[in-house]
Amino acid sequence: MAKGEHRAKLGLKCSVCKNVNYIKTRNKLNTLEKLLLKKFCKHCRKVTEHKETDKLK
Ligand SMILES: [Zn+2]
Repeated sequence: MAKGEHRAKLGLKCSVCKNVNYIKTRNKLNTLEKLLLKKFCKHCRKVTEHKETDKLK
């Protein structure tokens, strides 16, 4: 069994401009709910809500 099998790559997408600004990994077994984070968006040039997305682009 490969190490890190349950690590999923996720993007954090700006809810305003829909650009993926951050990439992170997460253990799907530990965290089931979707994250909603306030992060700085370089496209909007302000802090916006960022949602998890399976797509990295
Ligand atoms: Zn944005």
